[in-house]
Amino acid sequence: MNDPVLVINCGSSSIKYALVPAAADQPRLTGLAERLGSDDARLKGTDARGESFTRPLGRADHVQALTAILEGLEGHRPGAVGHRVVHGGEHFTRAALIDDEVVATLEATSALAPLHNPANLQGIAATRALFPELPQVAVFDTAFHQSLPPRAYRYALPEALYRDYGIRRYGFHGTSHAYVSARADALAGHSGGWLTAHLGNGCSTAAVWEGRSLDTSMGLTPLEGLVMGTRSGDVDPGLHAHLARQLGWELEKIDRVLNRESGLLGLSGLTNDMRELEAAADAGHAGAALAVEVFCYRIAKSLAALSCALPRLDGILFTGGIGENSPAVREKVVALLPHFGLALDPTANRETIRGREGRIDTLTPNRPALWVIPTDEEGRIADETRQLLGETPR
Ligand code: AMP
Repeated sequence: MNDPVLVINCGSSSIKYALVPAAADQPRLTGLAERLGSDDARLKGTDARGESFTRPLGRADHVQALTAILEGLEGHRPGAVGHRVVHGGEHFTRAALIDDEVVATLEATSALAPLHNPANLQGIAATRALFPELPQVAVFDTAFHQSLPPRAYRYALPEALYRDYGIRRYGFHGTSHAYVSARADALAGHSGGWLTAHLGNGCSTAAVWEGRSLDTSMGLTPLEGLVMGTRSGDVDPGLHAHLARQLGWELEKIDRVLNRESGLLGLSGLTNDMRELEAAADAGHAGAALAVEVFCYRIAKSLAALSCALPRLDGILFTGGIGENSPAVREKVVALLPHFGLALDPTANRETIRGREGRIDTLTPNRPALWVIPTDEEGRIADETRQLLGETPR
């Protein structure tokens, strides 16, 4: 299929889109419809000439926003739609062609991701109504981690909770971990053992061996694991009961505090933006310095733990907004793993930012490599969509 794939990431009040052409060197049309359902709903994007635009959408809902997105594509008709879907449960081990049965399975899975899957389903319903003739594919954040062995995905809880309610570790950001580890295999010229660190507003690590995820830091929900922008990551499982009993907090409040008021924001008392935190820490803000320190320590600790999953460590891959752009975070993480025998090249580390791909170690033989690999979740979703439709990837 030579037609572009329209990649859609649908949230409860936003739709992020990218029209991904078959040829990798062709430009992408990208944009975001946001504040849907409110008076100031709007569409922001980049047109075919690379110019930015913003258009008011009135009180547009998802269907109206998708209609506006299609109009904004200036006659570029997609040949298929690829949907990012957060949770595929245990049912989906790879991308799936969307039909009524897949929708019903996803509806049944929604209890596992109540904040995300209903919005993804809304986007699927709207695009199916608008483009009934186009094949639509669901690409899951969880699917890449379905290769985890039981020792990595089971919690030490009564077995019935797993059997009857699917309570286990699933992992997320699978599209990103899959993309950067496949890219590292291609760049290294062999399939290897990689520790991947996706560090953005959401953060997770994964251990990937010969293209298969063997362990990852996120669990039943995307709250487990690393410190994130506003998410706490790991806390003592006794914390919820403690907060309920001692402070009288309701479940909703505990959930909100751990998901929206914690992480870098909570630790620093300042912001969830790493750029601002690094500047504030340099200017002597103690909370910002502590937030960066805890953030980096927890990444290193997670990478060290996940290394147990790998028969051999060929390298560490940094990606996501922070992983791709913060030499300081990368340097701190590497410094906390002296027993890995890593050798960071300070110049390469400093210069590999703003979308550059490259090695940031000294290329010393028999030492694990350090790579910065800008993630491309949209490209990967388009590739998986094409693959599923029986076409060769880009
Ligand atoms: P993402 O969710 O992948 O878009 O990543 C967002 C995060 O990347 C935010 O915490 C940003 O502060 C961070 N980020 C983006 N650019 C930089 C930069 N130049 N230095 C440090 N952090 C950055």
